[in-house]
Parts: sequence; structure tokens; C-alpha cells
Amino acid sequence: MKNDISSKLFKAAKEVIPGGVNSPVRAFKNVDGDPFFVRRAKGCRIEDVDGNQLIDYVGTWGPAILGHAPQCVIDAVHEAAKEGVSFGIPNPFEVEMARKIVQWLPSVEKVRMVNSGTEATMSAVRLARGYTGRDKIIKFVGCYHGHVDSLLVAAGSGALTHGEPDSAGVPASFAAETITLPYNDLEKVRAVFAEMGDQIAAVIVESYPANAGLIFPKEGYLQGLRDVTSEYGAVFIFDEVMTGFRVARGGVQELEGLMPDLTAMGKVIGGGLPVGAFGGKAEIMDYLAPDGPVYQAGTLSGNPLAMAAGLAQLHEMDKLDGYKRLDHLGAHLEAGVRSLLKAKGMDYRFNRVGSMFCLFFTGEEIVNLDSVMTADTAAFRKYFTEMLEQGVYTAPSPYETGFISMAHSESDIDTTLESMEVALGKV
Ligand SMILES: *Cc1c(COP(=O)(O)O)cnc(C)c1O
Repeated sequence: MKNDISSKLFKAAKEVIPGGVNSPVRAFKNVDGDPFFVRRAKGCRIEDVDGNQLIDYVGTWGPAILGHAPQCVIDAVHEAAKEGVSFGIPNPFEVEMARKIVQWLPSVEKVRMVNSGTEATMSAVRLARGYTGRDKIIKFVGCYHGHVDSLLVAAGSGALTHGEPDSAGVPASFAAETITLPYNDLEKVRAVFAEMGDQIAAVIVESYPANAGLIFPKEGYLQGLRDVTSEYGAVFIFDEVMTGFRVARGGVQELEGLMPDLTAMGKVIGGGLPVGAFGGKAEIMDYLAPDGPVYQAGTLSGNPLAMAAGLAQLHEMDKLDGYKRLDHLGAHLEAGVRSLLKAKGMDYRFNRVGSMFCLFFTGEEIVNLDSVMTADTAAFRKYFTEMLEQGVYTAPSPYETGFISMAHSESDIDTTLESMEVALGKV
């Protein structure tokens, strides 16, 4: 792939931005390459500064569910901006957004807007601690909840390939309040509660872990977490930053028929602008300032442009019956990938829910991070590099989930499958 201009930009970036990027996974470290710089993106295609055209399955890491630069979002941002780009006092969009979330997620009675998924999980954890008067939290190995101090322990996503899952700069005393357990092992959770249930403020789990490949819960696992937290009076926090408004209107909790106490949201809800949210039971949410003792705030929270963009995206998904369409496209990709793998005699695993998917370069059954880490990373690197050559951009790590958007057509997916056939041939 031609990369003269991208290379020059990356060199310049490294002089003034740590590692040349504003989020580590963008640095392509895991694929031994340099990142490309984007000039524009429209629909399911990205064009880089060197003029390469790529079919995109990263979708700005999830938010671009309608594809890039959908007209409805551009128009909504445009209209909102004409009236002012930020007020720092209440605006009507905030009420509309909150009502939409409450309507779509039955477990959410009240919701507060923030500016990123990290802020959403951070605030949910603080709220759970303030509400219960307890300090300890349980999280699961390989689950990524943003770069919150107490959650950056045994985390997924960029932290996995960074080589140091536990960041420098997180005090050991903070990390000591976080109990990490393997995913999909309910007995271990029960055992910890039996031992110190009265000290545990919350259990936080990624609805479907999707920052270490895409892992599905075993039958009864999520309900088991719901039951044990209820029994001990701990807050059950569902991190739907990636899956919310993506796998269904009401996220995984809709698919699984589950009622968490608090839900963290982000990505799709912002229509590509920086947005997060957390919400849940009114009884818990009312512990937040100004009515309650748990402090939480944000100068730009509920920003009118961000609210307008998110609302436009959600309305459009509803109007187009988008979740059904995405599941259809996902099934089309899945059928193609499975037949490719069969034809090539590769026993790689492929997981999918709706428009989210992951091809694992391993034949192991995927139940937790240990199974995910059996992936053949050298094979993945060859695959990724050849896919780029073929004009298809997938996440530059074997542990990230891919996303299909409403802007992908069956024929885009067929083109992708042809590229995959070539790329898998190089593995
Ligand atoms: C992306 C993500 C986050 C963090 O969101 P940011 O907006 O990147 O801070 C948290 N949890 C999950 C499950 C995510 O996928």
C-alpha cells in the first residue's frame, strides 16, 4: 500500500504526540506496521492521505453504525451548530436523549450524559461505591472498561497488546480494591462473595466481552452474576459501551432479557461525537450530585452537537429497521467466512452477534482470555497486511471485534470475502 504521505505524517506526529497517536491501538504496533492517516471517510469506505481506498470494518471502533458521515448526522450537527456549539446550561436535546435511552433500555430509569465510555464506567463505579458504602469491585480478566485506574487491571483492547496489561501509574492500593476473576466461571464469583460479600460494591462486566476478541457468556452465566449481586446487595454494572444500540436497540440486556442495576454506554450513542452515558435504577442514580452525595460533573456533558448527532443516528436506525438489516449482513459475512474456512481446511473460530464479529486465529473453544490468547499472532499479522493490500481495513490486532455498518452492501461484503480468500491463503 502506498504510504509516502502517511509515513511523513507519522514521523512528524511522533515528535509531538507520544507514540505519534492519541490512542495506543492506532499505532499498529501489533502488526509491525505504521498507521495510515485518513483524509476522508464516507459510507463503508475510508480514503487515506496517499489516496488508498479501503473498505472499513473498524467503523471508528464501533460508533459508525450507519457508516461514515451519514447525511442525517451531518445535517443534525449543522442545524444544532447554527444555534450554538456549547452552552454549559441545560438544552432540550439532553432531555430528548435521556428519554430515548430510558425508553430503549428498560433497566434504565434515569441517565446522566458524559463525554466518553471511560467516564461512564468510572462514574458508575464511584456511584456504586457511594451507594453501597463499600470499596471493592469485581471485574473479569480481558474485559476492557476504558482507562479508569481501578479498571485498568487485567484489561483487554489496547492494554492487551501494549505488553503491560496493568498500567504504570496505577497505585497498587487502588488496584488492591479490584478483584479480577476469569470470565465465564461463576463458581469463582460465588466463592469470593461467600468470603467477603459485605465488602463488594459492584461487579462490572462487559455485556459481551468484545475487547479481547468477541466472547459469549455460557448459558446462565450472566443471570448467575445478576443473582449473586442481588443476594449480597452489590451493584451489577453492565458495560454496554460497545454493544449498546449496536447489537439491538436495547443492547445485550435486551437480547438476554437481563436487568442490570447500572449500565455504561457510549460509542453508537454519540453518532461519532465524544459521548458516553451511565444510567440505571432511579434509587441508585439519585445518589448523584446535586441531589445526592456522589460527585460527578462535566463542562461539556450533554453538549448540543453531540446530543443532536447521537439522536439523529438512533432515529435513523429505528426508521430503517437497522438492527434487522445489520443482522442480515452479518449472517451473509458469517456464511461466507465459514465456507472459506471449510474450503481451506482451517479450523479457526468465528464469533458473531448481529453486526459484530471476530475471526480467531485459533481452533480453541473461546470461553475466556486464556482461550483467546492461543491465537496465532504471526498468522494474523500476515492476514492483516494482505487484507490492507487488498483494500480492506480490519482492526490491527487479533483481539479486536469487527463492525459492519448500514453502509456496507452485500456486494461490499462479497468483495471482502474475495480479499479474505487471498489473505487466508498467505497465512
Ligand atoms: C470503548 C469501550 C470503553 C471505553 O470507551 P472510551 O470512549 O474509549 O473511553 C469502555 N468499555 C467498553 C466495553 C468499550 O468497548
